[in-house]
Amino acid sequence: MQTNLADFIKNTREGREADAILRACVHCGFCTATCPTFQLLGDELDGPRGRIYLMKQVLEGKQASAKTQLHLDRCLTCRSCETTCPSGVQYGRLVDIGRKIVDAQVPRPLSQRLLRTALKEVLPRRWLFTPAMKAGQLLRPLLPKALQDKVPRQSQQQPAGLWPTALHARKMLLLDGCVQPAMSPNINAATARVFDALGVQLVVAPKAGCCGAIRFHLNDQAGGLDDMRRNIDAWWPLVEAGAEAIVMTASGCGVTVKDYGHLLVADPAYAEKAKRISALTRDVSEILPDFEAALLQKLDGKINQRVAYHPPCTLQHGQQIRGKVEAVLRAAGVDVTLCADSHLCCGSAGTYSVLQPVLSHQLRDNKLANLQASAPELIVSGNIGCITHLQSGTATPVRHWIELIDSALGN
Ligand code: SF4
Ligand code: SF4
Repeated sequence: MQTNLADFIKNTREGREADAILRACVHCGFCTATCPTFQLLGDELDGPRGRIYLMKQVLEGKQASAKTQLHLDRCLTCRSCETTCPSGVQYGRLVDIGRKIVDAQVPRPLSQRLLRTALKEVLPRRWLFTPAMKAGQLLRPLLPKALQDKVPRQSQQQPAGLWPTALHARKMLLLDGCVQPAMSPNINAATARVFDALGVQLVVAPKAGCCGAIRFHLNDQAGGLDDMRRNIDAWWPLVEAGAEAIVMTASGCGVTVKDYGHLLVADPAYAEKAKRISALTRDVSEILPDFEAALLQKLDGKINQRVAYHPPCTLQHGQQIRGKVEAVLRAAGVDVTLCADSHLCCGSAGTYSVLQPVLSHQLRDNKLANLQASAPELIVSGNIGCITHLQSGTATPVRHWIELIDSALGN
């Protein structure tokens, strides 16, 4: 695609990056068919190619409108379009740049600004989010339906169980995250127990917290970068002490941490460290196959459940990791199925489920109908956002797949 970027952006780092991405697009439209919002709304401007055109116009100097902003807001940033695109168009990077410019040109109504501020100030801070979640659970029946869906019932929460205390020579870091410990405290504890059984000690750096995705994607890019720098500072001494990897149990965090090297490339104090941190970061499903033989010996065919797996977009599209979770589960004897349209987003998409509840619920209900077609006893996924969102629409238990492996180890 030919471009002629406006002076305000042309000679900036972001301008050059956006220009290269736009030029890679040959407007074939293959991506449109696999876009969840295009499938729901049937409007070209609610698909990737249409959004790319809208962003191109703004980058070329056309004033953005509230309509431009709405079409970009409706995008889930699921990056299904990137997986489909034969030209390698990095849509996710382009939409980060495009949203920042559009938001600077189109002020949002006060109610939206307040909601976005509340989300980006509360969610990444555990000391605020954890008591807010507990209060929400107590007051759940009084909350509006949209908020009830965001608060897991206490009866659906798996208690964390014990964190292993054994010391091992092999050590890896684990990102505890921000909302996950309050929403589903067992996930990281279960991961630590599985790794302990495999002879690896998982270490949590106390000062690490939100990966930065929440603030970055709510258009507080400076705040998001600060979260990333804080994590790098928290991990760095442990990386230098020989930590083999940084393990992610939420693929939404993993996709962001793997991008630190790119996002901090212009920061001379952090660029090199960020690159190293990204290179060390691995989703838990990337590590377990290295231990398959040892794991199978310990599992010894103990899993006997019919399971449906929902691959998070941040894993299958964002990190381009496909097939690994199913392979680990199948090797462990689990009867696991992928549902129809497994490439499509479940509608969670970070804060999207709060900001675009109608589309988000349609996508969730479509996803659950597909997942439940095989009458599973359990639904598993690999990202806290997807797990909570899916659980809000079904009585079938929804868990992280690592919890299944943990219970099969007898924990
Ligand atoms: S598939 Fe790729 S090249 Fe084709 S329109 Fe979509 S983004 Fe552009
Ligand atoms: S990121 Fe997802 S919702 Fe957004 S344009 Fe691409 S496929 Fe559509």
